[in-house]
Amino acid sequence: ATMPPLLSAIANAGRHGVLVKSAVAMERLGEIDTAALDKTGTLTEGTPEVTAVTPAAGAGVDEDALLALAAAAEHPSEHPLARAIVAAARARGLHIAPADDFTAAPGRGVTAVIDGRTVHVGRAEPTEGTAGAAGAETTVRVTRDGTHLGTLALTDRLRDDAARATTRLTALTGTAPTLLTGDHAAAAARVADATGITDVRAGLLPEDKVGAVRERERAGRKVLFVGDGVNDAPALAAAHAGVAMGRAGSDLALETADAVVVRDELTAVPAVVDLSRRARRLVV
Ligand code: ADP
Ligand code: MG
Repeated sequence: ATMPPLLSAIANAGRHGVLVKSAVAMERLGEIDTAALDKTGTLTEGTPEVTAVTPAAGAGVDEDALLALAAAAEHPSEHPLARAIVAAARARGLHIAPADDFTAAPGRGVTAVIDGRTVHVGRAEPTEGTAGAAGAETTVRVTRDGTHLGTLALTDRLRDDAARATTRLTALTGTAPTLLTGDHAAAAARVADATGITDVRAGLLPEDKVGAVRERERAGRKVLFVGDGVNDAPALAAAHAGVAMGRAGSDLALETADAVVVRDELTAVPAVVDLSRRARRLVV
């Protein structure tokens, strides 16, 4: 027997490095008419590096103490920022103390008890960071028992194919994709400028990403959402079609998505939309 077109399309998607989970999922991918993309780990590589460690004046910690404390609190987290902070502490040979009572708030940060004191690492306004280039980076702040100890700046490289993938999605849908990110506006703007995205929403919590997707769905659009994090899982579920970036993606995102990009290329996303459309033309 010849294979039904949608199943052939799934096999083709596999050759492009995309695991599509069902024929229904394959079909939905071809129905989308607008795209929304996460920033960290989706348009960027998702392997950030710590570029500055800035203790607050009078906080009583030096750079190494601040970084070690942040790494201790982040150690149990699978978030890309957490991995970067732990790697930076290891690179300096710092001791990473064990964490008790660890909790992660998706899109916000982490809290843990280190040596009997509550340490939080999470969202900061860019103005809290160091002067200059830090405005375009991701900045996180560290507090201990509620006292501000300082900030860490992190940068993440744009994917080589981020602009190409964005251009292809624009061609396929007739509108440029929207950028939905939990990061601050300056970091979002830098990535948007480099990829030709003009519609940017920054500082979003996971539920805000869902809200942005639903808003478009209510306006009659069929939204493709592409993300990688735990914070993206609700939006992946809410979208008409959800695609997760597999390499650095969280388990929850991979489980929730209709398709997973296993070869680490963002251009695989427009490629699979195109495959679905061709298959649907054969079905109809
Ligand atoms: P994005 O939407 O760009 O993928 P997230 O929603 O995962 O980003 O995170 C949004 C913001 O929340 C980050 O820029 C950071 O300020 C803060 N944040 C999230 N997780 C952590 C963490 N583990 N440690 C520190 N900050 C975090
Ligand atoms: Mg992300």
